[in-house]
Amino acid sequence: MQKPNIVRAGHPVLRGVAAEVRPEELGSKDLSHLVKRMVEAMRAAPGVGLAAPQLGVDKRVIVVEDTEKHMSKLSANERSARGRVLLPLMVIVNPVLEVIGTGTASFFEGCLSVPGYMALVERMLEVRVTGTDEKGEAVDVVATGWPARIFQHEVDHLDGMLYIDRMLSRTFGANEEVQQRWLSMSPNEVREKLDA
Ligand code: ZN
Repeated sequence: MQKPNIVRAGHPVLRGVAAEVRPEELGSKDLSHLVKRMVEAMRAAPGVGLAAPQLGVDKRVIVVEDTEKHMSKLSANERSARGRVLLPLMVIVNPVLEVIGTGTASFFEGCLSVPGYMALVERMLEVRVTGTDEKGEAVDVVATGWPARIFQHEVDHLDGMLYIDRMLSRTFGANEEVQQRWLSMSPNEVREKLDA
């Protein structure tokens, strides 16, 4: 299950607050190499996002990308309920996340650093993320639905936070069990049945 190059829960790098990338690092070979490794690891996993601490690197860098292939198993209804839309590859250095509005949604989510499991996590529906890319070009993106969930999950990683800290813990389950028993139900139904 586990990809050898992705750090798993239990490693302290996932529990610290990652260091800001310094201005002189922007545009450097080292930073572009790190970003390249992150994108490769995310795509190989496969996953829809990755934070530098997941490669054992204590820096505030995230990459995200959601593709048709990742959502191919979801029906049109499931996609629309989740607000799951294509998210082009983005690299964000020193991301700052700001919540927009008060809307929330709960869905099952997992993490490459906690392989094999999923749980319902309540996330804000809309966020704005600002920062730069690896060369220092400004990035400013407003995301809703699933992309907003991905950004919240990845920025959490930079603050030493995992989804298991936010999950409805009674919904935590092995991927196979969740897929077989719970994924087709509405989140409210799952909560009711599991008393979560
Ligand atoms: Zn994660």
